[in-house]
Amino acid sequence: MGTLLISKKSIHANKQVKKIQKEYLKQHRRIKGRFPKGKLGKVVYLDDNYCIDATDGIQVNSKGYDISHLSIQEMWRIIKEADLVGLGGSGFSTIKKLETIRKSAASKKYFIINGVACDPGLLHDAWLMEKYMAEVNVGIEIVNKLVGFNEVIMATPDKVPCRYPMGEERILIHTLLGIDITSKEIPAEKGILVLNVQTVLSIYNAVLGEQDQKIRYITVADLDTGRARIARVKMGQEADEVLMRILETNKRTPFLSSTSTDQCYIGSGIMEAEKYHKGQKISAATSLICFGKAFEFHNEEKCKGCGACTRKCPKGIKVHKLVKVIEKEEWSKLEELGIKECIKCGCCSYHCKAGKNIMDMITYAKEKKYER
Ligand code: SF4
Ligand code: SF4
Repeated sequence: MGTLLISKKSIHANKQVKKIQKEYLKQHRRIKGRFPKGKLGKVVYLDDNYCIDATDGIQVNSKGYDISHLSIQEMWRIIKEADLVGLGGSGFSTIKKLETIRKSAASKKYFIINGVACDPGLLHDAWLMEKYMAEVNVGIEIVNKLVGFNEVIMATPDKVPCRYPMGEERILIHTLLGIDITSKEIPAEKGILVLNVQTVLSIYNAVLGEQDQKIRYITVADLDTGRARIARVKMGQEADEVLMRILETNKRTPFLSSTSTDQCYIGSGIMEAEKYHKGQKISAATSLICFGKAFEFHNEEKCKGCGACTRKCPKGIKVHKLVKVIEKEEWSKLEELGIKECIKCGCCSYHCKAGKNIMDMITYAKEKKYER
């Protein structure tokens, strides 16, 4: 089970990383609506534009940008056969999302390309948009041809402040369209398709890039100094092989202070990662590999009654009450306190003055209540 690697306390104790976050928050001050609560900015910066290639140089043999020779049926077939999945952390089947929105009876259809990438540890989506925007635009054109949208919205940090958790799917929809999608509803059924920018790039690569292997880009970061680089990896690849390449690069041009695999974490972001273990593989949900000292939460401390968890929860959950109920194991009260609305963003844990990993406690409580 993944956990978050930082807390407000750990950031405040690290002057260098605190400075990175402060700068980021300054740049992304403007927030409208009811979701500014998490208030977390990046805690890493791109040290070098150099991309670590851990794929043995697998090339995407692009056939250019013209899709006029391809019929809609042909593009559906290619995307279906490519078996693409979301690369923004969900790992959800892309073709299923496309089929759902195509069948949706919604009167207006929207396509949101999620380039917000707000997790404090991730930089590769912004990097991809700088390098491959022409390809992403063709990917957008392909998806638009397949579905036929009323509106296509590119959600980039100039439209949506890059502050965690503004890029979360339902929060993004609310911010851009003012539409509320409950946890029981599926956005694509309501006529709203949200695809991460890297997923759109993978659609381009499948249709025009002749890519037979699933390649993805991830961020490699140093938790202690905030330095980061981009890496190109294969899905299904042994993480050991990727680590070897990262460490080889680090020998030539050091950017990581710690290279110990005892202090190595892999996951969908800094807000949800797990300790690296041998034999682990890179998956569609792997967006981050980082090295350094993770914050250790000590759940045994008493609640200080500060209310930060509730104030910072983007879903408006009365988290401090939920914590009490979980600690007393009163499982029957969880639902009325909105446990199902929790999006596992970790903002409560990040801000908790008592060092409680509330997100983990909620995950545990959900398992207790619903998986018995
Ligand atoms: S309760 Fe859930 S949604 Fe609210 S801050 Fe905590 S993890 Fe995020
Ligand atoms: S943030 Fe932590 S200490 Fe503060 S009220 Fe919530 S559980 Fe208690």
